Formats: sequence, structure tokens, C-alpha cells
Amino acid sequence: MLEHHTNRKTDINLSFKEEMRTALKSQAELEKFFEIKLEPSSYSIFIPRALAYRIKKSGVGSPLWNQFLPKAEEELNWGAIDPIGDMIKSKGNGLIHRYKNRVLFTPTTTCPVLCRYCFRKNELNHNKDIFNTKLKDAVEYIKTNQDINELIFTGGDPLILSNKKLNDYLEAFSQAPELKYIRFHSRTPVIIPSRIDKEFCQSLKKWKHRFKKVILIIHINHQDEISKDFEEATSLLNQYGIELLAQTVLLKDVNDNANALKKLFTSLSDLNVRPYYLHHPDQVKGAKHFYLSLERGREIFSKLRNQLSGWAIPEYVIDIPGAEGKINAFNPEGFNFSGKLINKDSQLVSYKQEAE
Ligand SMILES: *Cc1c(COP(=O)(O)O)cnc(C)c1O
Ligand code: SF4
Repeated sequence: MLEHHTNRKTDINLSFKEEMRTALKSQAELEKFFEIKLEPSSYSIFIPRALAYRIKKSGVGSPLWNQFLPKAEEELNWGAIDPIGDMIKSKGNGLIHRYKNRVLFTPTTTCPVLCRYCFRKNELNHNKDIFNTKLKDAVEYIKTNQDINELIFTGGDPLILSNKKLNDYLEAFSQAPELKYIRFHSRTPVIIPSRIDKEFCQSLKKWKHRFKKVILIIHINHQDEISKDFEEATSLLNQYGIELLAQTVLLKDVNDNANALKKLFTSLSDLNVRPYYLHHPDQVKGAKHFYLSLERGREIFSKLRNQLSGWAIPEYVIDIPGAEGKINAFNPEGFNFSGKLINKDSQLVSYKQEAE
């Protein structure tokens, strides 16, 4: 049984750099910190200490624990290395282009934490080639593909980069005349909220003069991830008029019940963060223990309608393997699944479910 720490050290407001430098980075460090023998995993480990204190306080098997601590099941031979086909759609310059009007940009492979369920866990671990950034090429690509009106910073986690670096990127991409929406996908506001400083907010606000929208999509899966510091970060972003959305992955033994999701989406709404997507988990190698069936997911999702207003409910989506794109995962006619989904080009494609 773990000691329940109400340790004052949890309140230490480490600077962002300090958090990154002092993070727990190995199995041995984890075991020492959590005072417990852990199951071995061949995937990398990275947990900032402030978060580690919160995980320890939540205890073994809690939603925080399950998301961030390694499990032996990561070694199972199940699922795909690249479940959603990022490599197929990579342009070799840091851009991933799957939809006509919008493109992903991956300026870094670093994250503020390594989530065990991550759909890019194999790419981030072994195949970094697709993340090679060639800025000039990337800007040129967007300029010549005039259907592209949105640039989405992802990674890794783009907020790992300095304000200066992000500003330089925006400066470069602002040269593409058709580009009018900018979006950041990030787990950082939850994991290291102190990263959201005034300078960052000011910079985003400044870019709202050039772009029609500057959106920050916060990745968050459970109510227990909401800390006082996170609340303050969202409040600061709100003050600067930055549009905040949230993205959640449905995960077995983390948030796979309507009550947990209801609590999370209510809290986010109260912080003026609009729930945007609930992702069905990807069938990614190393994350079998997080997977649940579409039937189960639909059953959970269906219960939200009665408990949450329409604007507090995200769209439940599934990314079809092989770069086929995202689709609404909820079939209102029943829980049964026909085995086919409609892809981004409006064609029926097979979606094969492996045994849970
Ligand atoms: C999910 C995704 C996007 C963003 O899609 P939205 O539905 O606009 O959130 C863009 N590009 C790729 C490759 C994606 O996987
Ligand atoms: S922050 Fe995102 S990209 Fe990074 S490990 Fe977690 S889920 Fe993966």
C-alpha cells in the first residue's frame, strides 16, 4: 500500500525547464520514487516530478497511475506500429497531409510526459524520420497547395518549444497567404501548467491579427488531471481570448464509464474549455491494455446525452487505420457494428477489431 502523501513538495512550483530536467526518466528512478516494484517495459519513461507526486497520491491502479506508469502488457504483440497511417501521409518535411484543407506540423518529438497509451509511441520511440522538420520545404508545400487553410502544430508536443521558436514558426508560415487558421494540440497545459505564461498568451493573441483563428486544443482524459495550476492556466488563456477546446481519448481502466466522462466534460465546460473530440482508442502496438470495443464505447457515449447539454458533449470519433481518416464512432441505430466505416473520401472501408 502506498503512503498517501500530502507532501508540501507537491506545491513547489518548479519552472518549466526545471520540471523537464528533473523528470523521472528510468524504471529505477520510478521504483525509487514510488517505492514499488514495477513491471518492465521497453518503451521510454518520462514523468515530471510534480505530476509524479500527484500520481503517487492517487495510488496504484488510479486513472493517473494507469495512464503514466509502465505495464508488462506493453510488450504484447498486438496492434499496429502506425495505427492511423501517419507515415503514409508524411511529406518528409514535418508535415502530415491527410485532409485537403488542413495539415499537421510536427516540429518536435519531445513531450512533457510519456503517456503509455500514446498512439505515436512506436514512432516516437523508434522511427523519428517522419518528424524531420524542413521549414522552408514545409512553407513552400503549403504555399503551393492552396486548398490548405489550416496548420495544426502537433508532435511530440509543440508547447515544449520556446515562445521564441513558436513565434519564428508562425512568422514563417504567415507567408502562406491562404493559411487562416492556426491550431495547437498539446498535453502541456495539464502536465506542466506553468508553461502557459503571459508571454505565450500575448504571442498567440498577437497572431490573431494575422489569422482568423488561433486555437489551443488541450489533451486531457480524466477529472483528476485538473489541478489548481491547470485551472489558472486556462483562466490566463481565457483572459487573452485564446479559443480553448479539449480532446480526450477513451481508455480502458482510466475513463471508460459515463460518470467519469460526465465529470470531466462538466469541469472543462466550467473552465470555458469546450470538449471537442472523444477519441476511440487506436489499436496501437504497446497499448492493448487500454483498448475497448466500439460496442462498449458506444454504450458509454450514449449515456452522456441524458446528463450533459449538447454543447458539453464532444464528438465521439474513431481514426480508421491506414490513413483513411476520422469518422463519427457513434451509430444511433444500435450498438452493433457492421464491420465497415465511411472514410474521408465517403467510401466504405473495413475496420477489423482484434480480440480485446
Ligand atoms: C485528426 C487530424 C487532423 C485534424 O482533424 P480535425 O477533424 O479538423 O480535428 C488533421 N490532420 C490529420 C492528419 C489528422 O489525423
Ligand atoms: S503527450 Fe501526446 S504525443 Fe506525447 S506521449 Fe502523450 S499522447 Fe503521446
